[in-house]
Amino acid sequence: MYDIKSKAEVDFINDTKIKETIDYATKNKNNKELINKILKEAEKIKGLTHSQALLLLLCDLEEENKKIFELAKKIKNLIYGKRIVLFAPLYISNYCVNGCTYCPYCYLKKTTNRRKLTQEEIEKETIELFKMGHKRIALETGEDNINCPIEYVLESIDTIYNTKYKEKPTIRRINVNIAATTVENYKKLKEKNIGTYVLFQETYNKKNYEKFHPFGPKSDYSYHTTAMDRALKAGIDDISCGVLFGLSDYKYDFTALLMHKEHLEKVYNIGPHTISVPRIKPANEIDLNKFENIIDDKTFLKIVACFRIAVPYTGIIISTRETKEIREIALNLGVSQISGGSLTSVGGYHNAKKAENSKQFETSDKRPLDEILNWLLKLEYIPSFCTACYREKRVGEKFMKLSKSMQIKNFCTPNALLTLKEYLKNFASEETKQIGENLIKKEINKIENEEIKKNTIKFLKEIEENEKEDIFF
Ligand code: SAM
Repeated sequence: MYDIKSKAEVDFINDTKIKETIDYATKNKNNKELINKILKEAEKIKGLTHSQALLLLLCDLEEENKKIFELAKKIKNLIYGKRIVLFAPLYISNYCVNGCTYCPYCYLKKTTNRRKLTQEEIEKETIELFKMGHKRIALETGEDNINCPIEYVLESIDTIYNTKYKEKPTIRRINVNIAATTVENYKKLKEKNIGTYVLFQETYNKKNYEKFHPFGPKSDYSYHTTAMDRALKAGIDDISCGVLFGLSDYKYDFTALLMHKEHLEKVYNIGPHTISVPRIKPANEIDLNKFENIIDDKTFLKIVACFRIAVPYTGIIISTRETKEIREIALNLGVSQISGGSLTSVGGYHNAKKAENSKQFETSDKRPLDEILNWLLKLEYIPSFCTACYREKRVGEKFMKLSKSMQIKNFCTPNALLTLKEYLKNFASEETKQIGENLIKKEINKIENEEIKKNTIKFLKEIEENEKEDIFF
């Protein structure tokens, strides 16, 4: 039934090498000269190797740590500016045949309310997300070839893209977070015009991986770990990686995730477009006391800063698993994309009652989207609902080239302002609208290219006067 092809060793995640790297970094983490040499290298904004990045992560020299955080902020500012991209998850089914011990969707969890949305319900969920102001979603499912086959996922993608509200198109970009699958299925996803294919490794430590995934198709470490290879072979050129911090030693997973990225870049010339840094959270029938590797806030924030330095051109995503306070610090250190107004239940956006007890995990930041926009604007970030790059095919290698030459700034800030304008006009509260309009005025003046500035002003006017929407560079 399940196409599990590979039991072969995953040679790009080398357990011995990771342990040697951790050993070396532990011994040298406070070698002032070495840390400063790595920082000098990092200032070139060309990234670091997994081993250099781990040294920075483990370093506990006070002065050097200050430099690490300062550099992370500097890189964030230089490459991403003040833009923060927003999205929300859309759970369509929580049927699952896997045994993931940290997840309430696990087959054995009898009190989880199992739900699979009908296409009508998916349409209603899409409309609710649109009415909040969202344009980009992450489609989420459990793994179950019978209750949630690929055909259902594909049909759901069509439904979401085709959903209109008062004649207007709604969601413009669907990122897809479904279980590891075959090249053939990845090709089908590609044909549906998905945005990013997202798959968290959970943990790269094989022993722990097998402990936390005792049965089901996901229990095959090799098959899961080689999923991105299959996705890229199938032609998907926009991928997102991540680990679930709390399952294994964070040093191990931090190093291995960078090794994974190095492998993908070497073989396919495409690294992850984004990485996620989820931490394990309370959930139905899940006892967090059973997880020995849960990380504290200080370690978590250092991880964010070190990823920012190690992979400067890879976006960092932080979800509503984290509190407002942690998100605020992390935004400054390197996060470029956040979710907002999120529910992790199946169908909860349009029918809370029916969705009871179907959540994947508890969120910590429960603020509605408008409150999140208001908060971002007050912090002088530019909330962005932009989906232009993927629709203009600025993805994969092409995107990397553009972003490495910093050209992305020419598109991203104006596009962020145009989508913010749409949000303010259609969905914002009065207060958010006011702060947002002021920010747009300020930001327009900062656009250096006169032609782009002129066109941005023209497009903003067209949006304001209701002539056009969905305009982008
Ligand atoms: N079922 C697919 C898979 O196996 O990859 C899709 C992913 S699932 C819908 C989304 C992610 O939620 C998982 O990859 C996992 O990392 C995360 N997750 C599961 N349980 C969690 C928990 N208790 N706390 C935080 N995140 C959790």
